[in-house]
Amino acid sequence: MIQSDQFGIYIHIPFCRQKCQYCDFLSAPATEPAQEAYLRALAEEITVRAPLHAHRRVTSIYIGGGTPTVVDPKWLCGILELLFSRYRIEREAEISMEMNPATVTKQALADYRKAGVNRVSIGLQSARDEELKRLGRIHDLGDFLRTYEAVRDAGFTNVNVDIMAALPGQTVEDYGETLRLVSALSPIPEHISAYSLIIEEGTPFFERYGALKEAMEKTGEPQPGLPSEEEERQMDEMTERLLKEAGYHRYEISNYSLEGRECRHNIGYWKRKDYAGFGLGAASLLDNVRSRNHTQMRAYLEEKDKEMERAALSEKERMEEFMFLGLRLTEGVDREEFKRAFGVPMEEVYGDVLRKNAEAGLLLIGEKAALTRRGRDVGNYVMAQFLL
Ligand code: SF4
Repeated sequence: MIQSDQFGIYIHIPFCRQKCQYCDFLSAPATEPAQEAYLRALAEEITVRAPLHAHRRVTSIYIGGGTPTVVDPKWLCGILELLFSRYRIEREAEISMEMNPATVTKQALADYRKAGVNRVSIGLQSARDEELKRLGRIHDLGDFLRTYEAVRDAGFTNVNVDIMAALPGQTVEDYGETLRLVSALSPIPEHISAYSLIIEEGTPFFERYGALKEAMEKTGEPQPGLPSEEEERQMDEMTERLLKEAGYHRYEISNYSLEGRECRHNIGYWKRKDYAGFGLGAASLLDNVRSRNHTQMRAYLEEKDKEMERAALSEKERMEEFMFLGLRLTEGVDREEFKRAFGVPMEEVYGDVLRKNAEAGLLLIGEKAALTRRGRDVGNYVMAQFLL
């Protein structure tokens, strides 16, 4: 088997100041000693696994969470130092760190930069304080603006801002306010991630809005307090239009960037490039084997083997992933690349699905197969058809 020698590294920091109302990520508040115990286990995992990747070069590192910046900066910098000492990290590697407003000081930002971080992702979610409150966020718009300024003052020149659409009680105009504010920051962010809220089971939002959401999906009828499907579509259209006017291009369903500022680490996920995930519940894809670490903190801290599950992907599964991950990208999936990877033309495996969706105006097929504008509106429906 040909092994790629390049890969990405994901580091999971599962701590937050408080849990947001809609969040089902592996994250929770924790005391300082609990954080320290975790960081020690994380460092040990990196040390133990690094020799397995000795033949590889690191093209990107992504420190995500949770809110990485709620832990003491010296620990995060220590993790980066450890990575630099154990791995061959390319000079041009993209090194991202997620942070939330009001969780960083000027000193911490300077330290992260010195430790190698060259891309910052800030979770704003909304520019309207009442929406932030409803979401259970720890910050307000003022906190975000101060953090954004501090990030720029610290010299970061590659910055993402996360925003959210389809929030309960949010009108299309409300959402437009957030979009306009973010795309008029000075300087404008190099990257904007604009996600639609998904009401996940097990969250306080699900308790409150789950039944309404289900009723809306079943009947297609708008429900009080939730944006209708038509409003969601308008928000999506508005995102593309306003961000295009501001100089961004949409390169993935929910991601927009200035030219050349796409997130290389995340593109790796959509293109099925190898990556190793470290930390609680972190996933890896290495040589077509997907694995996942323990999701229970106690097991992660105490077990010598941090891995909870591992599965070698069959050819069928690899083809499915190639299609439904790749179709998330605006450029779509490359037919030649498919043939190189699997030894058969895409048409031979997916002829009917490609034809049917092209005829329905949902897919555009040339050298690549890509979702059309209408196809993107029903993206999940189209992508599901590529499951064999
Ligand atoms: S800050 Fe992010 S990870 Fe933390 S609780 Fe909120 S949504 Fe979840």
